[in-house]
Amino acid sequence: MDCIFCGIVAGEVPSTRVYEDEKTYAFMDIAPATEGHLLVVPKRHAKNLLEIPADDLAAVVATGRRLAQRQVDVLGADGVNLMNSCGEQAWQTVFHFHLHVIPRYADHARDTMTLPWDPTPGDLEQIGATGARLAQ
Ligand code: 5GP
Ligand code: ZN
Repeated sequence: MDCIFCGIVAGEVPSTRVYEDEKTYAFMDIAPATEGHLLVVPKRHAKNLLEIPADDLAAVVATGRRLAQRQVDVLGADGVNLMNSCGEQAWQTVFHFHLHVIPRYADHARDTMTLPWDPTPGDLEQIGATGARLAQ
C-alpha cells in the first residue's frame, strides 16, 4: 500500500520520532502550525476517524495526552489543541488516521493560529432540530 505514514511507522520514510509504543507512533509534523506540532498515528493502518478500530483510537488519544503534557512541561506551552480532519472536505490530506497535537503559546511571536470559524449565536430552533436528528 502506498501510504506515507505506514512508511514512517515502518522506518522506510525518515521522521523525527518522539514516542512509540505497541499501538502508536508519534513524530514531528514536517510543516508545523506552531513550535512543537506533532502527529500521533496508529501503527495499524486506518483511513480515518470513522474506520479506526476503537482500541487503536483510544491508544492514539492516550499518547496524544501524554505528549500534550510534554509540550507543556518541556516547551512551556500555555495550552494544546488536539485536532483531527476526517475526509477531504474536512482538510484531511494524508489518509492514514492521525491526531494533530498542537502546542499553543500566549506569546504571539510563537503562535499565529486563529479559530477557523466565527463564533456567532445560531438559530436556536434549528440547533434544537438538528440536535434531535442526531440524538438517539
Ligand atoms: P492533515 O492535512 O491530513 O490533517 O494532516 C497531514 C499532516 O501531515 C500535515 O500537517 C503535514 O504537514 C504532515 N505531513 C505530510 N507529509 C509528511 C511527512 O512526510 N512527514 C511528516 N513528518 N509530516 C508530514
Ligand atoms: Zn498507512
